[in-house]
This record gives sequence, C-alpha cells and structure tokens, in this order.
Amino acid sequence: MLSDLLKNKLLELEYLKQLSTGLLYWDKITNMPINATHHRGLIINYISTSLKDKLASEELLELIVQLDQQEKSDVEQGIIRKIKRERASFSEIPEHIYQKYNENIAEAELKWEEARSKNDYMVYAPALKELIQSYKDISYSLGYKDNPYNGLLNIHEENLTTDFLDVLFSELKEHCISIIKNNKNNKTKDFIKDQVYPDNIQESMSLDLLKIIGFNLDSGSLSSSTHPMTLATGNQDVRITTYYERDDFRPAFFTALHEGGHGVYEQNISSKLNGTYLSEVASMSLHEASARLYENNLGRSEEFLYYYFPKLQEQFPVLKKTSFNDFYDLINVCTPSLIRMDADEVSYNLHIIIRYEVEKEIINNDLDIALVPKIWNEKYSEYLGITPPDDLSGVLQDVHWASGYFGYFPTYTLGNIYATQIYDMYKKSDPSWAQKIKSGNINSLTEWLSANIYRHGAIYTTKELIEKVIKTPIDSQPYVSYLQNKYSSK
Ligand SMILES: [Zn+2]
Repeated sequence: MLSDLLKNKLLELEYLKQLSTGLLYWDKITNMPINATHHRGLIINYISTSLKDKLASEELLELIVQLDQQEKSDVEQGIIRKIKRERASFSEIPEHIYQKYNENIAEAELKWEEARSKNDYMVYAPALKELIQSYKDISYSLGYKDNPYNGLLNIHEENLTTDFLDVLFSELKEHCISIIKNNKNNKTKDFIKDQVYPDNIQESMSLDLLKIIGFNLDSGSLSSSTHPMTLATGNQDVRITTYYERDDFRPAFFTALHEGGHGVYEQNISSKLNGTYLSEVASMSLHEASARLYENNLGRSEEFLYYYFPKLQEQFPVLKKTSFNDFYDLINVCTPSLIRMDADEVSYNLHIIIRYEVEKEIINNDLDIALVPKIWNEKYSEYLGITPPDDLSGVLQDVHWASGYFGYFPTYTLGNIYATQIYDMYKKSDPSWAQKIKSGNINSLTEWLSANIYRHGAIYTTKELIEKVIKTPIDSQPYVSYLQNKYSSK
C-alpha cells in the first residue's frame, strides 16, 4: 500500500515534470516572445532542479525502501523501479561532469549551426570532440567501464545493450541492403508533387485522420510548427503540431498519422495512474512504435488506403485521374536518398544502423572524430549505394549528437521493429481486422492498443510490456518479412 506521504511526494514529482516538459515547454516553442528566452530558461531550470532535488531526497528514498519491503502490486513495483532509475541517472554523475557536459552541449549546438552554414564539418569537429569526452565521462561515472556505449543507450532506453542491438540490427541490415538491390519499385514518376494542395484542405484532412484513429480533440489539439511534435500534460491535454507543404500533401498526411500515433498513446494512458508518477509512456521506443504503426503499418497499407484514397480524391480533385495502384506504388516507393528525414521505409533503417555503428566506434573504440565523415560516407556507399557529396547532406544533417542525444538513434528503428510485431499480434487477435480497416473502423485497432499497451503507462519496462503482448521475444524477423513482402515481390 502506498502511504499518504509517498502519494503526496509522487504527485508533486508528476506536477513538476508535467509543468517543465509539458506546459512551459509548449508555451516556449509556440507563443513565447523572443525576449522572454532568458527568463523562461531560468524558470524551467528552477523547476527541473527542484524536481531533481525532490527525486534525490533521502526522505523519498526511505519511503521507497519501506514500500519495497512489503508485498507489492505491479503499480507499486513500477513506482520503485522508476524512482530508482531516475535517481541513479543523475545522482551518480558528479556535478562538475554534468556541468561540463551542459557547457559542451551549448558550444556544440552553436558550432553545428555554424558548420552547417559553411558546409564544413571541421568547424564543428573540435566542439564535438569535447562533447564526446563528456558522453564518455558520464557513462564511466554510471559504472559502464567496459562498454561505455551501453551506458549511453541505457539513458534513452532501459537496459538496452550493444549485444541485443548487434543481433537485431545485423540481420535487418543484410535484408534491407538486399531489398534495395532487388527492389523494382524505385522509378515511379512522382505525380503527386508540384500540384497545389491548399493549406486549409490539408488541415481538414489532418483533423479527419486524427478523428479516424480515435484522437479525442476535446482532450487534444492540432496546430502547426516547423518541426512536428506531440507534447502532453496528462492524458487530457495532448497537443500535436504538423506542417503543410503547398505542393505536396503527403508530409501532412503522414505527420497526422505519426503524431496522431503519439497522441492516442498519451490520451489512453489510464487515469488511474494519475499521481503515481507512472502516467507517462513506457519509453521513447514504444512511443515511436505507436507513431510508426499508424504512419507505416497502417497508413501505407493497402487496407487503409483502400478506405482513404477515395476520400483523398474528394479532398484533392487533382488525384481523380490517378489509379489506386499507381497511388499505392508511389506511397510505397523505395528509393535510397541521403537525408534520413526524407527516407523511405526500407532505407530509413540503414540510416539508423549507420549512425549506430559510427556511434559505437566513437565511444567504444575511440574513433578519431576527424575521420567520422570518411567512415560515414563509406558506409552510405556500401549500404545505400549513394555517397554524400558534402558534409551538409552527410554527417551534418542531424542535430542529435550536438544536443545530448547520443545513443538515441537506435530507438527509431526499434520503434519500427516493435510496431510490426505489435501490429501482427493485433491482426492475429481479430480475424476481421482487414474488413474493419477497409471500412474505416480504425477505432478497433486503437482500442486494442489501449487495452494491451497504452493504458499501462510506465508500469512495466518496454521489453516486459511488449513481450506480454506479442507473447514471443523481440525479434527483427517479422519486420524483415513485412518489408520483403511489400518491396521484394513487386
Ligand atoms: Zn515520432
């Protein structure tokens, strides 16, 4: 049983987290006047420091230890696990290392911007080198002496290791390379682009898609921003952003499904978990799995497009001269390109695996930072058959390394792998799934996901939760089969 004292402490932690990562952050990136930047930074910093202090307090530790000595429910076990993990994530890192790390991030972000404007990686390399040292110091202080990259992986995904990823990714890599080589659907003329798709129609399409997948607009909203995102302050305030390209409706179409997939997850976390500090998604990879399930497994499927293509033709009459088959092929085209954000479903994984391999070399084998673009470009030639002509379309394209997200990229491909195993299980659970989707009944999928995954919030680790649902170990083979069926048989 949770004591009243512990309940109060958990509630306090939850409010502070929701305030700093939800509301204040949302306001900062949407409405805040530019001159407020400094003052807002101070406020957010004050709140996150106060959250840390409360997490680190001896009083909280005592209450957790007491709880641990009793017989526990899954929720109580989850609370203990989560509090211990969050405490460890900063209390074991010495203050001077953490401070240096933050300084190095600020410098690396500036230099990354400058390097991009000059299209010259070497402008950024010295700052990146300093920051890499901070990443290593953090991992060492967390106890990862033999495999420091594991320490960085574990920050973003509980208990994630290179042993696990090496197996999962090596099989996937080999198959993605061979699918790209044998794929025939790579030369379709892009007949969608360069037509006019009015913003207001794209907006009503996005709202329609959100409604169809069960996103509740009374507990959430849709607005626009340069970088799409989903931010939640509890399950009844979930805000999504998207963007509209005048000459192509696809970015808005897939963003609505992707961010909507994040959104329905947030909205369907059980209200019973409010105040337990577990009322949030289980992990970033599972959050991403939900987004990619709606965007790709559902959104690019024959069943869903069978239902939605006629609606698209109504909304954008320019599509009326297009056949379903041509449309389906174009939506599912596989053409390797240099930029991760523009990648198709198959090559996307190779973009991630390249980053994973380079990161592992940098941290575990001390790869010389000056050599990173060379190694990067060689891997692009080998796996994707294309070579970046410059740093901008190569190693400088992502801000992640400069912003503190080192060891984070693998969660994107894990999301793809999980999404397919979960979607396969949904299909198995309901023999009439195809009929339902073809007739626009997507709610049944969302309800199934809510009952099996979303409602549990952060009670279980990602691995525990997924394996509970799919009833087999996590494996890349189902995802490989999904890609092969779709792209190799054409
Ligand atoms: Zn996402």
